[in-house]
Amino acid sequence: MPLNLPYKLLKQEETDYDIFFHLESLKKPTHCLLCNSENIRKKDKLKNFYFDIPSRGKRVGLTIHAQRYFCKSCKKSFREVLPQIHTKHNMTERLVKYIEEKSLQRPFTHLAEEIGYTEGTIRKIFKSHIESLAAQNKFETPTVMGIDEIHLAKRARAVITNISEKTIIEMFKDRNKTTIVKYLQGLENSHIVLNVAIDMWKPYKDAVNTIMPHSVVVIDKFHVVKLANSALEKYRKELRASLSNKQRVDLKNDRFLLLKRKSTLSDKENFIVSYWENNYPILAKMYLLKEKLFEIYEADSKEDAYTRYSEFENQLTQEVKHYWHDVIRAVGNWHTEIFAYFDYPVTNAYTEAMNSVIRHVDRMGRSYSFETIRAKMLYTKSIHKTQRPKINKRYDLGTPAFCRKEVPTIGRSLPPQIVEENKVINYGVDMEKLVKEIQKGALRFDD
Ligand SMILES: [Zn+2]
Repeated sequence: MPLNLPYKLLKQEETDYDIFFHLESLKKPTHCLLCNSENIRKKDKLKNFYFDIPSRGKRVGLTIHAQRYFCKSCKKSFREVLPQIHTKHNMTERLVKYIEEKSLQRPFTHLAEEIGYTEGTIRKIFKSHIESLAAQNKFETPTVMGIDEIHLAKRARAVITNISEKTIIEMFKDRNKTTIVKYLQGLENSHIVLNVAIDMWKPYKDAVNTIMPHSVVVIDKFHVVKLANSALEKYRKELRASLSNKQRVDLKNDRFLLLKRKSTLSDKENFIVSYWENNYPILAKMYLLKEKLFEIYEADSKEDAYTRYSEFENQLTQEVKHYWHDVIRAVGNWHTEIFAYFDYPVTNAYTEAMNSVIRHVDRMGRSYSFETIRAKMLYTKSIHKTQRPKINKRYDLGTPAFCRKEVPTIGRSLPPQIVEENKVINYGVDMEKLVKEIQKGALRFDD
């Protein structure tokens, strides 16, 4: 087996599990490493043990016989430099690279066993690798930010997205206020964040209001209409439980119909709704209330939306009111943010892609640490959405390499965004590309 290291092979030993090489460096020093004097003499030899990349399923160890020298000029001793040995860890530089790469694919314990090194060191190498990846992959701050959720190993984790670009830019172990506050505090150009779309989770709102008071928090309409659908579903289930078998057949396809918007009903379906009005009046009423709530989102102004909501509230008679409790409470608690939607109609168009990502990630969550999944998701270069620098047509000699240009932000009175023309803009992880990679089976967490 060629060793491919710049050393002279003295001896090789092999057991069932291990291969050991005894090595000596090829180039000997001619000067003192400390004062550069040529007046040096050999001292004793040291034997140092280092780990290397496993080979043929066996662990590889190197014993390097290193020469020590004494410098007669500065009266100090030094050891010869060992090429391709990592300065911090007792291993070859190529093993460090190997660990960096493999630690994103395999559990640390497997790797530790394969190499023969401690799991703690592998974790350390992984950690510093992640830090350097983070420094290499700086994502653009979005003007419209989303804070979403991913369920991983039975815990909700916050995910930061760029809504306009449909990208993921960060994910966290939890969804606490302190976590989000820390992130927002470290966010570059946070003044350009105009809107933050969130679901109804108070810590997100508090974090944004504390750190970026200029950003308008918006509750996506999706979260509100979802509550309407669950109100309806709750009633439907109660109703079905109280019916006779014959009646149940009568309402066989009700679930599908209830979810449909009134404007899309066929003649036959419209007939069914009027049949409900005569035979199941509360069901019909619930359906029309759901429609009323959806119609709020067809308002052409905030004022119109307020009016539509009061009309909805006025129709909540005693027999149906308690089914709408969650909706009433949500609108009460989140009034500003829900109606902010009518000034800033921000919506996560990527919900479906996100759900597919969530399912996949949750499966991986069983064998991998959160940090591994995060790193793999965020730092796989092929799925980043980037924009190459624009060609500067007026480029002439003497123009500084990084020419800063002010880009006015359209329609809003906010400070202009500064972009560096020659910089590649990285918007983060493209959700569509991510889903494609997942479906292709390319983004995997095993060998
Ligand atoms: Zn010296």
